[in-house]
Amino acid sequence: MAYVTLDLMASRRRVLAGAATLSFAGLMLGGNAAAAAAAKSSQKSVDYQPHPKGGHGCNTCKDFVPQSNCKTVEGPIQASGWCNKYAHS
Ligand code: SF4
Repeated sequence: MAYVTLDLMASRRRVLAGAATLSFAGLMLGGNAAAAAAAKSSQKSVDYQPHPKGGHGCNTCKDFVPQSNCKTVEGPIQASGWCNKYAHS
């Protein structure tokens, strides 16, 4: 009887440890996503405009992520847009 009780306690500890590990992993992933979003520049700070400038547009920039995102500027971004961080791909 005591053996069964100890075995159940050990199982319960493993389940609780697993749940704690999953909770911690979830917090870390959420934190990374928030950090990545915070690292992007606001559209205003980079003079983003929804139309090209000097023949350059987001669709030819190395940071453009089709269909409407940018690696360095907060979205949504239009393929025809432009900002002062433009870098030809
Ligand atoms: S021009 Fe600016 S907003 Fe457009 S893709 Fe490049 S860095 Fe992003």
